[in-house]
Amino acid sequence: MNPLFKPFNTAPFSEIKNEHFLPAIKELIKNTKVEIDGISINPETPTFKNTVVALDYTGQELDRVTSIFFNLNSAETNNEIQKIAQEVSPLLSDFKNDLLLNKVLFERVKLVFDDRKSLSLTTEQKTLLEKQYKGFSRNGANLSKTDKETLRKIDAELSKLKLKFGENVLAETNAYQLHITDEKDLSGLPDGIKDMATQTAKEKELDGWVFTLDYPSYVPFMTYSSNRELRKKLAIAFGARAFQDNEYDNKNNVLEIAKFRHQRAKLLNYDSHAHFVLEERMAKSPEKVHLFLKELLEKAKPAALNEFRELEAFAKELDGIDHLEKWDGGYYSEKLKQKLFDLDDEKLKPYFKLENVINGVFNVAEKLYDLKFKEVYNIDKYHEDVKTYRVTDREENLVALFYADFHPRAGKRGGAWMTSYKPQQISNGSNDRPHISIVCNFSKPTKDKPSLLTFNEVTTLFHEFGHALHGILANTTYKSLSGTSVSWDFVELPSQILENWCYEKDALALFARHFETGELIPMDFVKKIKASATFHEGMQTLRQLSFGMLERKWHSQDPSGITAVKDFENDAFLTTELYPNVKENCMSTAFSHIFQGGYSAGYYSYKWAEVLDADAFAFFKEKGIFDKETANKFKDNILSQGGTEDPMKLYVKFRGQQPNPEALLKRAGLI
Ligand SMILES: [Zn+2]
Repeated sequence: MNPLFKPFNTAPFSEIKNEHFLPAIKELIKNTKVEIDGISINPETPTFKNTVVALDYTGQELDRVTSIFFNLNSAETNNEIQKIAQEVSPLLSDFKNDLLLNKVLFERVKLVFDDRKSLSLTTEQKTLLEKQYKGFSRNGANLSKTDKETLRKIDAELSKLKLKFGENVLAETNAYQLHITDEKDLSGLPDGIKDMATQTAKEKELDGWVFTLDYPSYVPFMTYSSNRELRKKLAIAFGARAFQDNEYDNKNNVLEIAKFRHQRAKLLNYDSHAHFVLEERMAKSPEKVHLFLKELLEKAKPAALNEFRELEAFAKELDGIDHLEKWDGGYYSEKLKQKLFDLDDEKLKPYFKLENVINGVFNVAEKLYDLKFKEVYNIDKYHEDVKTYRVTDREENLVALFYADFHPRAGKRGGAWMTSYKPQQISNGSNDRPHISIVCNFSKPTKDKPSLLTFNEVTTLFHEFGHALHGILANTTYKSLSGTSVSWDFVELPSQILENWCYEKDALALFARHFETGELIPMDFVKKIKASATFHEGMQTLRQLSFGMLERKWHSQDPSGITAVKDFENDAFLTTELYPNVKENCMSTAFSHIFQGGYSAGYYSYKWAEVLDADAFAFFKEKGIFDKETANKFKDNILSQGGTEDPMKLYVKFRGQQPNPEALLKRAGLI
């Protein structure tokens, strides 16, 4: 029998075969539809309980099976699973669209929503009601029949355009290669990077070395190659993607996407696409984002200009270069960094044995939140490398199950992420505890050498573990508000704040010991790590702000008058540009983050989250990084609360005041 049809607690990985997924998902979609129909046709007057709560409880089995499936598709995939994903994805999006277009159901939710003032709802209940109502209304549920049709047409156009945009960027990225046949042209590049380029050449059946516009190839070349002409060549090729007046050009797609997004927002009664997006964010409005970016720009710009002048002088001294160009920045930055800090990964790695770092992060969680992690061996898993833990509180009560999958392998995508197999919620009076997982790609131990992490990997582990704590400590009634179900500009607070402990002597003392001698990491190294972490922070901040400003410009006004993409973009960069403009290049035509992916009108989120984490950590620093009272405040108001309340209100409850960018500027050495 298909194990996905039987009730299960932990995911039954060892029993699942690929062929079980499609029939299970199809069947569970059907079952969920029956559940939803039961709510729609309920003859009783709609109430919060029989409509809003009932809807939150629908689809539990479907959610669990799809979470198993999509997690496997990321962490342990193969051609067969990918093929199933192509079949499953449209089924699920059709199902979701049908739900949002369900008129009878919406009428019921709307009746409860319109009556909300007279219902005595808790804050969490009010949030759930509003979230559900907005889910429908933001999809056009309140529109007339004609307007609904227009909206569907716009959505169809947008999804076509976004797809085309992405295909063009991909095609242009793949169309270019820098083929090197003279070894002299590799000067400056580390051996590992050269080997990779040999491999790429072999795959393309070429002699010598090949560099491409993919990040893992492009970025090291720009960082280490001492051949200025070749850096220029590669950089211009990178910046010209989808901006070459050929069949893959994205200029028109950019204009069309901006135009349709604006139309969509107007139809739904918002001033602009940015207004539409930000309504559901902590930042709330484009005006707020504008002020936020402006304030940071004012503070960061003097520092950025100083750094730039220093870099220019350094390049002049080293290679007699008079004016820095875009393709020089990364290279001379790296050189200057090496000169100033003389700190490389190989020196630090012996202090960061994976097992020690894991124990360290568990130890930090225990000191802050009284959590205990005990490795257990009786939980079914999808690969032998996965580790499983029981997480308990001080009284040994189960808080969560925790899966950790640390090493790369074929079938696992790159990067690191947190995910879950079972949500936290209160159902039938009992608090269902969540099953949380983190997935990373740290090199595997060998017979005679343990897995040693770079410092960057240490912060990655703390980052993902911070997300995991958000899931593990979740304590809400409704699953759709639980754990990391929060707005985009708030979700990185729990993860980013935990990274701060990696730079603290008292936290490092818990785990940063030499894997052979047991010696604690020297303080001199710690100081250098701290100092190098904020190296060129002014210029980096300026760069992030420039992306945020470009995106804001595209999305907060009526774009119908824009004709020249490049001119429009230059205008947006006016206050942030340090390097001379490159006329062959355009950012917007390859800015997949905002024109293809989900970050539309959300690029400011990166800096926003940094402001939050720096400000929140400053509070810990003030009281002590392991201060129980502060940790409890963070747990009670942030980590356990998920999306039950407006994030700014949650933050103020924790901090006693709204976030202040000063802590970030101080940490970054900008003031
Ligand atoms: Zn994150």
